[in-house]
Amino acid sequence: MRVNAARFKSSTSFVCALVLLTASLAAAQQPQMPAASKTRIVLLGTGTPGPLPDRSGPATAIVVNDAAYLVDFGPGVVRRASAAFRDKDIKALEPTKLRVAFVTHLHSDHTVGYPDLIFTPWTIGRRVPLEVYGPKGLKAMTEHLLEAYRVDIETRTNPDGNQREFPDGHKVNAHEIGPGVVYKDANVTVTAFATKHAMESYGYRFDTPDRSIVISGDILIHEAQTPAWLATRPATFQQFAAKYHTRTAQLADLAREAKPRLLILIHYNALSPEELLSDMLTRYAGHFVVGRDLDVY
Ligand SMILES: [Zn+2]
Ligand SMILES: [Zn+2]
Repeated sequence: MRVNAARFKSSTSFVCALVLLTASLAAAQQPQMPAASKTRIVLLGTGTPGPLPDRSGPATAIVVNDAAYLVDFGPGVVRRASAAFRDKDIKALEPTKLRVAFVTHLHSDHTVGYPDLIFTPWTIGRRVPLEVYGPKGLKAMTEHLLEAYRVDIETRTNPDGNQREFPDGHKVNAHEIGPGVVYKDANVTVTAFATKHAMESYGYRFDTPDRSIVISGDILIHEAQTPAWLATRPATFQQFAAKYHTRTAQLADLAREAKPRLLILIHYNALSPEELLSDMLTRYAGHFVVGRDLDVY
């Protein structure tokens, strides 16, 4: 997925899978949370379709006060949220509090965790419907998933079912969106903007009382692929990637133009995180970090 630099710049701050923050290389290895910030970014999954055990599927949480807003729900999303709650003491990521989510696009690596997000929090006590925002096709995906799990839903809500006392917790209000403001509450205003990818796709800008995050502005969160890794892939994938993904050189160009205080790389393909770090260091002099699951910024 690729963000248009001019669009990124003019729209203040937002990208699909790249986070830009100000940090030295040393700081890049040791994420530090701004002392007075109410808004936190939690990387729940920095992975790609490849099932690397230490990198869960794409998912990022923007946490404001006691509320969490998810961007994408790749495989492992609920367990990573549970880990952030347990190990990082981020109360908003206790799984029953997962109630609002935004999806950048409907590729499977970004959505395989959708039934997990619908059903797992319900089974442990979420009582309200999930609110989900994303491109066209989201409503049909939602309806099909609920139908796929019909036997489970009927069993859990029948007179003997464990979830009969709160039968609304598995329901989903799916909102198909276009560019513009798509969500607003006391914590956050969320603005969607179109991005270039293999299908209809959006980036989201979060404006909170203390930060502006394009998943950019202050902080840019973005995907990347190194040429060394791409060279190991089949020619057909290299052609696909040239059209719909971002090479490190392109990301460096984008970041030089957008000038974020901090760039956070997620959804990256490289020979290793170290290879990505050295590749980016040769191309980009600004502050950036290679994101790892459960990093908090
Ligand atoms: Zn992806
Ligand atoms: Zn994709």
